[in-house]
Amino acid sequence: MKKLLLEKTLFFVVSMGIVALLFITGSYYFFLNTYEQLETSHNKKHLTLLIQHINHALFNLRQKNLEYISLMSMHNKESHDMNKFPLDVISNDQSIDFIIQTDKNNKILLQKTNKTFNNASSNLFNTIIQKYEKNDKISDIYPLKKNLLFISKESLSFNNEKEYLYIAKEISEKNLKNFAPFFNTISFSKKTNNEQKTLDKFSSAYFPTISLYTKKQSDNFFNQLNFFNNEKQFVFALQTNNKRDIVATGEQTIYIFIGSAIFFLIIIFLISRKYMNTVKMNNEVLEQEVERRTHQIQSALNELEKVNLKLYDIAHTDFLTKTRNRRNFFIHSENIFSNSIKEEKELAVIMIDIDNFKPFNDNYGHAVGDQILIMFSNCVKACLDDSDIFGRLGGEEFAITLYDVSLEVAMEKAEKIRAEIEKLELHTASKKLTVTASFGVSDKTKCESLDQMLQKADKLLYSAKHSGKNKVRSRLNTP
Ligand code: GH3
Ligand code: MG
Ligand code: MG
Repeated sequence: MKKLLLEKTLFFVVSMGIVALLFITGSYYFFLNTYEQLETSHNKKHLTLLIQHINHALFNLRQKNLEYISLMSMHNKESHDMNKFPLDVISNDQSIDFIIQTDKNNKILLQKTNKTFNNASSNLFNTIIQKYEKNDKISDIYPLKKNLLFISKESLSFNNEKEYLYIAKEISEKNLKNFAPFFNTISFSKKTNNEQKTLDKFSSAYFPTISLYTKKQSDNFFNQLNFFNNEKQFVFALQTNNKRDIVATGEQTIYIFIGSAIFFLIIIFLISRKYMNTVKMNNEVLEQEVERRTHQIQSALNELEKVNLKLYDIAHTDFLTKTRNRRNFFIHSENIFSNSIKEEKELAVIMIDIDNFKPFNDNYGHAVGDQILIMFSNCVKACLDDSDIFGRLGGEEFAITLYDVSLEVAMEKAEKIRAEIEKLELHTASKKLTVTASFGVSDKTKCESLDQMLQKADKLLYSAKHSGKNKVRSRLNTP
């Protein structure tokens, strides 16, 4: 029982442990995956913002260009002198770094650079003019050595001749970072990493294809955005780096969650163990109590059995002579009668009545009468075998049932008893008393019941009385 309980408890603890382990591992990977997805979507959102900012910058630059063209047109109408374009306006404009005006043959008519722009050189201008000579208008990004040059080219007509206005703004990596402060670093590269697997694609008004390559390191998130122009040529790449803060914070949260879960599991385990111990203790106390009560009940039952036996004895024994009483005698004798019929055995009964008993009572007192009854009974008992049934039927009348005994043997037995009784002596203070008894003996002949046998024996007993008492009578010696 205890072993089974131990095995069950062990099984429960091990299963709980496995479930807890599965739960912890499962939730760790589930939450980590959720945080990674969150980080990836955040990353994508910020990349989209970066592209939008670049787009805006190019759009604003073009707007600025168109603004200048309209200013120039107004100015030219008045002065008819293109070269008198108000340069101080441009000089004060911090949003652009240089402006170039060319004629239709790409000859530079005007050029103005901002003080902060230190890459200005006619080489660069010529390269740019050559690069875009076939286009009437462009909005593009031109990669320099360290920075990106945002360029806008628009056309204007002067005296029915086409002229061009280029304006540009140099964007440093530091400025790029302002476009997307989410990233720790942003740098640009003139090399693509085409061989790498592209994870995603973006597009903007100025760059129809922007491919994304992402590399996740344990604590770092690396992106490379490759910008392609309308001719599907690679223009430049932007590389961003940022700490994997979301996953790092997420991992911390997961550890706190798992820690708390383990803590609560341990608490639950300890509480249930305490509860189980209490239940076990209560069970033991209960078992002890049940054992004690069972013992008590068993003792009570034993006592009851003893009392029952006593009661049975009282109910079946004659109080004075300690022989079977009438009830007991009949119960047993009737059983024996049935057996004798079943087994075809002989059966005999002897009825005995003490002769002239009443005068003992009358002359010497009831106690003396009782003494004689006891003495008489003991004497009969001493003459009987164990299988013989001897009982007091009432007053000074007794009977004996003898199983498997012929009438002759029964008569012999009666005779022997009669002789022994005759020898009995009771010494009273005044006199020595003797006693005799008369006997009627019957077998089963012509009898169908024990009662009939006893009636016959009784008749024979009275016949003995009538013929002088102290005699044994049966059908063999009675006419
Ligand atoms: P008989 O020889 O014809 O049998 O005469 P008897 O006196 O023996 O018979 P009777 O029936 O006249 O008297 C029996 C008496 O036995 C009557 C009764 O007072 C007495 N007796 C019956 N039971 C007891 C008993 O338990 N104790 C004593 N002391 N006397 C008893
Ligand atoms: Mg009598
Ligand atoms: Mg009598």
